[in-house]
Amino acid sequence: MTVIGGGYIGLELGMVYAKFGSKVTVVEALPSILASMDKDCVQVVARKLKKMGVEVLTDAKAKSWEDKGDRAVLTVEGKDGKAIQIDTDKILVSVGRRPNTEGLGLEDVGVKLDKRGYVIADEQCRTNVANIYAIGDVIGGMMLAHKATKEGEVVAEIIAGHRAAVDVRTIPAVVFTDPEIASAGLTEDEAKAKGHEIKVGKFPFAALGRAMSVNDTEGFAKVICDAKSEEILGVHIVGNGAGDLISEAALAIEMGAVVQDLNLTVHPHPTLSEAVREAAAAAIGEAVHIINR
Ligand SMILES: Cc1cc2nc3c(=O)[nH]c(=O)nc-3n(C[C@H](O)[C@H](O)[C@H](O)COP(=O)(O)OP(=O)(O)OC[C@H]3O[C@@H](n4cnc5c(N)ncnc54)[C@H](O)[C@@H]3O)c2cc1C
Repeated sequence: MTVIGGGYIGLELGMVYAKFGSKVTVVEALPSILASMDKDCVQVVARKLKKMGVEVLTDAKAKSWEDKGDRAVLTVEGKDGKAIQIDTDKILVSVGRRPNTEGLGLEDVGVKLDKRGYVIADEQCRTNVANIYAIGDVIGGMMLAHKATKEGEVVAEIIAGHRAAVDVRTIPAVVFTDPEIASAGLTEDEAKAKGHEIKVGKFPFAALGRAMSVNDTEGFAKVICDAKSEEILGVHIVGNGAGDLISEAALAIEMGAVVQDLNLTVHPHPTLSEAVREAAAAAIGEAVHIINR
């Protein structure tokens, strides 16, 4: 099977089929898979893909395909501009999600769309037409279920006469690959681009009692904070349970927590959550179960 798109959907589904026994090739136009996620986390998943025999072609653009009956031949433009032909049973297209706003009659009532067809909505999910609200994928941004849910709740509050707005610092994201990647807040590059000088703490699952006891020590937690204020700017986790661990990070970011808030909070032992605390501690040179550098 050939998967077009090394984003989260392509990799989640590609890995599933690889585990079922399919020979999977992933074609990604950008220089990296999961381009918006923390680079170190992505490396862990990239290594796992390699170990599973999944071939990943980066800087590779899918151009066309030819129907060969029960097979297909996909033409891909590689790094050097050379055409690569991939003979494949199935092609899974996991790129190009776009808003499904055509034919809804939005133009008849005057609801404004942007150039790409997304409904334009403000932080209260109001469109330019009074009493028409829009939520979820159709207004763009992070196209995730919990973002849509949050927006739906805000609109329900407003319609019920309460004051509400989508006023959040982070929409956490989880990539359900094996291992999972979870992220809340800024990556190192994003934090630097916003003008922060940063400190980074990293704690490997290999030094975590719970990870050892379940024999799954692949991965780490990383905490990024502002170097001066030590406010937590981002948390990135790769490994078993990352998706469940990230909510603590989202809460910390939402509350404007500093690394000591995470570090001084007692975390139960032996749990994976200790990785988040130790990564926060590592950012200020106070980790207990690794050498602080
Ligand atoms: C393969 C895949 C995996 C994903 N995995 C995750 C994940 O793990 N976590 C996560 O948070 N998000 C995930 N997402 C994204 C998530 O599904 C979306 O962000 C979420 O569903 C958006 O909700 P929504 O209500 O905006 O749109 P939708 O869930 O798409 O709902 C829109 C509904 O409107 C209906 N509709 C469309 N046009 C009309 C019409 N004219 N009249 C009536 N009904 C209409 C559609 O049929 C649909 O049921 C995934 C998406 C895909 C494609």
